[in-house]
Amino acid sequence: MIDILNYNNENIFAKILRKEIPSKKVFENDVVYAFEDINPQAPIHILVIPKKPFCSFTDFSKKADAEFMQEFIRSINLIVEELDLKEGYRLITNIGKYGGQEVPHLHFHLLSGKKIGKMVST
Ligand code: AMP
Repeated sequence: MIDILNYNNENIFAKILRKEIPSKKVFENDVVYAFEDINPQAPIHILVIPKKPFCSFTDFSKKADAEFMQEFIRSINLIVEELDLKEGYRLITNIGKYGGQEVPHLHFHLLSGKKIGKMVST
């Protein structure tokens, strides 16, 4: 069962941040690292992760300080601007078992490049 409150340093995105395993970088600053999803669900499918150990949006909401939260959200928009996603995009973060979260490091899926399909598949 995925733990959405207690961070596990051995999760795959922690290893990507430590450069222990490779990733295709799209954007990086002091706050976020963004890279291509290995199993893209749209022409553009990027994962945006904080450079701090939050295991989920729940954890982030409880523990991140206001400045970090602001910079994190602004950084997502910087990526949107850098990629020139004028036609729009979808941001998704999955939380826990019912949310379908597989990797216990907070990540936002940034999807674009075509009209993204149904909000929820059953
Ligand atoms: P989630 O189900 O929201 O936890 O999403 C995890 C995402 O991580 C999935 O879309 C996977 O395709 C993606 N993923 C898993 N391992 C890697 C990796 N090594 N590099 C890039 N994306 C990955």
